[in-house]
Amino acid sequence: MAKVIRCQCGFLGRGASVEQAATAIEAHMRADHPELVGKVTREDLIAMAEEA
Ligand SMILES: [Zn+2]
Repeated sequence: MAKVIRCQCGFLGRGASVEQAATAIEAHMRADHPELVGKVTREDLIAMAEEA
């Protein structure tokens, strides 16, 4: 089942698994929200995952 994680800005990180979706959001945060890197943990992201 595909997963999505919604960023606070509305960006959707998508993946075939929650791990892939978390990786997509981490890359997005590094690019667009560098201030959040290190504050939002991978566990936080995984907890935010929803069914795509
Ligand atoms: Zn964002």
